Amino acid sequence: MSDDILVVEDLTVSYGRVQAVRGVSFTVPRGGLVTLVGANGAGKSSIINAVSGVVRPAAGRITFDGTDVTRTPAHALVKGGLVQVPEGRQILSTMTIEENLQLGAWHTTGDRKGEVYERFPVLHERRNLPAGSLSGGEQQMLAIGRALVAEPSLMLLDEPSMGLAPKVVDEVFRVIEEIRASGTSVLLVEQNARRALRAADHGYVLSSGEIVQSGPAGELLQDEGIVAAYLGLETH
Ligand code: ATP
Repeated sequence: MSDDILVVEDLTVSYGRVQAVRGVSFTVPRGGLVTLVGANGAGKSSIINAVSGVVRPAAGRITFDGTDVTRTPAHALVKGGLVQVPEGRQILSTMTIEENLQLGAWHTTGDRKGEVYERFPVLHERRNLPAGSLSGGEQQMLAIGRALVAEPSLMLLDEPSMGLAPKVVDEVFRVIEEIRASGTSVLLVEQNARRALRAADHGYVLSSGEIVQSGPAGELLQDEGIVAAYLGLETH
């Protein structure tokens, strides 16, 4: 079996005549934490949605755990262990926290709610309240918790730091690093490039739907040219 849990080859995603992703290739090693970084509109969400089966690629091949899943629907991928934490959290705000977690585990026979409650005590305390009553950071923890109960072998995260205060962003990244340390492979897309590269082993820089640079995350961070051209001015 390959050492890569995810292999994306020559991926193209189009919306009508707009080519949002143009021939993108990358891999996620088993147990690794890989990040795709780039500005607003670079194509990050399109890539992650193609991998999770939410968007159908125009061309290219996606291999998950040794199987070609290019045309596999999202619900089948979730059952196989490929689980997405979508941009903007997408929690069901009028349902309770517990109900949100139960939805994440629809296809499993196990019950990992206890583990999630242990990791996020605030979710346990408020489990019978509507999810919409949580703060933005807590809602992000719930979105991550909902993915964890689905027992992922590969977790996809789409801009988990979006709209959160720096302190909360630190907490979100701490959780992501813990998830990886517990053996789950992670693909993270982020506009907050510096923060994402600090957490990742390997990074790919996207611009206008193409990968313009890639390498060990630490090396990308050290490269003044890349930082100036693509990584913007975030300071945390
Ligand atoms: P963001 O941070 O805004 O989510 P992104 O890097 O994730 O940016 P995408 O959302 O993948 O980028 O968008 C890439 C390009 O595709 C953009 O030009 C965007 O306007 C376009 N696009 C995305 N979704 C659609 C859609 N459903 N229909 C038409 N164009 C789209």
